[in-house]
Amino acid sequence: MSRFAQRRDRLRKVLRSAGLPALLVSQEKNVTYLTGFSGEASWLLLSKNDAVILSDGRFIEQLQRECPDLDAEIRLPPTQLPDLVQRIVSKGQWSQVAFEADEMTFSTHAVLKSQCPEQDWVPSQGIVESLREVKDTEELAAIRRAIDVAERAFNVVRASLLGSQTEKDVADALDYQIRRFGGSGCCFEPIVGVGANGALPHYRAGDVRLGASPFVLIDWGARVAGYVSDLTRVLVTGRIPPKLERLYGVVLTAQLRAIEQIRPGALLEDIDAAARSVIEKAGWGASFTHGLGHGIGLAVHEAPRLAVRQKRALKAGMVITIEPGIYLPGWGGIRIEDDVLVTRNGHEVLTSVPKSFDACVVPMG
Ligand code: ZN
Ligand code: ZN
Repeated sequence: MSRFAQRRDRLRKVLRSAGLPALLVSQEKNVTYLTGFSGEASWLLLSKNDAVILSDGRFIEQLQRECPDLDAEIRLPPTQLPDLVQRIVSKGQWSQVAFEADEMTFSTHAVLKSQCPEQDWVPSQGIVESLREVKDTEELAAIRRAIDVAERAFNVVRASLLGSQTEKDVADALDYQIRRFGGSGCCFEPIVGVGANGALPHYRAGDVRLGASPFVLIDWGARVAGYVSDLTRVLVTGRIPPKLERLYGVVLTAQLRAIEQIRPGALLEDIDAAARSVIEKAGWGASFTHGLGHGIGLAVHEAPRLAVRQKRALKAGMVITIEPGIYLPGWGGIRIEDDVLVTRNGHEVLTSVPKSFDACVVPMG
């Protein structure tokens, strides 16, 4: 049995215990997770005995290569995906079909309801996403490779920084090096924020030159075999601002404090609190403006979310980021982000780019 068939069987167990006879999976990464299919615009309709991927003529050959064990219904113009759903649902005898409420558009839902009026369309949330939280051996191997490639790329780029380089030059260089080392590119547009731009947690990369400020925040990751990595480092490229060194110490302490707490059973909100309390005690609580971290896998941001009021517990096999930060508008930002595997007895930090303050001071050409 392929690992995708095993995942579909695990999903069937979840559906059975929820009393749902069938689930229409339309979230792209969920479809990939359950089938191995890496294309887009395709849905999976899964029930107790069947699994059918609904796709279109562009993907016939790709489907045969990537998921030969799966039944496929192919639409040709002018047939639409809901037409294929109707074809299968009308044969299936299910009174209920669950759909992914966070993914399905209002208009598609209306079409499905009108085409399949006999069925009760049941909104569901996070069913496949929660299966995706715990990684299997192959997934873990792919994430480890995505980390390795991202780190090799970073080391090359870090060793050749120039004051004349723009933020965009650094982002492009990371993407190029990731491809050189065997990745399929950055898994998101890298954030390269010189000086004050680092205060925008989701800044991209613009025209500011590295020489314009003594420090730069870089948040990047690679995609390898569909899986991602996600890291952040602050590099000190000029004279060390004393405030930077002080704040860096706070963020690093917060990050290490949170990592120490990671083990199966620990609550997501408690890991967040471990980091947040360090930053609060240092007087910068209001400047840590986001959650502590998130799962990574096929997507850069996936379940679980480490934040306040997240009462669920960590499980062995989860891979999460730990990324506290302090952001001061007009001055800059500090964030340190690593990827951590929850192991049976505790945790393993998968990323290894050095993060002591001294290691982040890089002489620039
Ligand atoms: Zn990141
Ligand atoms: Zn992240």
